[in-house]
Amino acid sequence: MFTPQKIIVLAITLVAVWLVWRVIERRNAAKVGKDQASPKMGQKAGHEEPVDLVQCSQCGNWTEGPCNRPGCLNKG
Ligand SMILES: [Zn+2]
Repeated sequence: MFTPQKIIVLAITLVAVWLVWRVIERRNAAKVGKDQASPKMGQKAGHEEPVDLVQCSQCGNWTEGPCNRPGCLNKG
């Protein structure tokens, strides 16, 4: 049989568990937010920045700037 005393104890237990769970959730959220706010070391290692490629008028080689293809007539 449920007595009012048992119900109160059960309610307190549930509230306590919920409070502990909420603190853990908040800690995890704060940790994630901190990680996102601070730049990670080596974050760009696997991430390629989009670059504007230009095609060489002599050899058709796609480069970021002056043609660097060995033997190409277009220097600069
Ligand atoms: Zn070239």
